[in-house]
Amino acid sequence: MDKGKLIVISAPSGTGKSTIIGELMKCESLRLEFSISATTRKPRGNERDGVEYYFLEVDDFKKRIEREEFAEWHEVYKGRYYGTLKSEITRITGKGNNVILDLDVMGGVDVKRIYGDNALSIFIKPPSIETLRKRLLSRATDSIEDINNRVDKAATELSFANKFDHCVVNDVLDDAVNEVKAIITSFVEKR
Ligand code: ADP
Ligand code: 5GP
Repeated sequence: MDKGKLIVISAPSGTGKSTIIGELMKCESLRLEFSISATTRKPRGNERDGVEYYFLEVDDFKKRIEREEFAEWHEVYKGRYYGTLKSEITRITGKGNNVILDLDVMGGVDVKRIYGDNALSIFIKPPSIETLRKRLLSRATDSIEDINNRVDKAATELSFANKFDHCVVNDVLDDAVNEVKAIITSFVEKR
């Protein structure tokens, strides 16, 4: 069985990463399985532990950092930690599936550095910062303060786009999904 590969999708929050990943997961031939991250943020809406995230207390997260259980981790927002458990990667690759990771830009750069040719990194760009704000507002899952923090962070995040293997603008959703699908297909089929 081929060893699974890693595909990282990064973008400023609100760009449409989760929407695009949801569409990619429907494509069975890509054999994608989502890497469930650990986080110290509280569940949002209907999120369940072990489905969208492993929700951890800060103390537990920090103990796991000390025990080197994370492939990468970042304090993405002040006091809110997010990380990829090494056990999550081996759980998925062990089945021969490819791992799809939804990470902040720093995490995306880390995974590419650590896994090299076994990883593909894709940066998704919003058409503009104004569109990004509108998408966060229409998603209606975050407070205005959180939305402002996320938009403020976007300009810095966009400056990391050139560190990724590919960059795709999410303007018309179907076009962006098709572009990302083509990039991933050629990567997973490469030996
Ligand atoms: P992210 O995972 O990057 O934070 P989401 O996937 O949650 O972003 O998308 C943010 C909001 O924008 C959602 O309400 C989603 O339905 C919407 N959205 C995603 N892509 C597009 C698009 N191409 N055009 C318009 N709205 C979009
Ligand atoms: P949210 O709170 O909206 O679910 O996610 C906030 C941000 O954290 C997003 O940009 C998401 O990509 C990022 N993120 C989620 N899991 C991880 C992770 O394991 N590592 C890193 N570095 N970022 C993550």
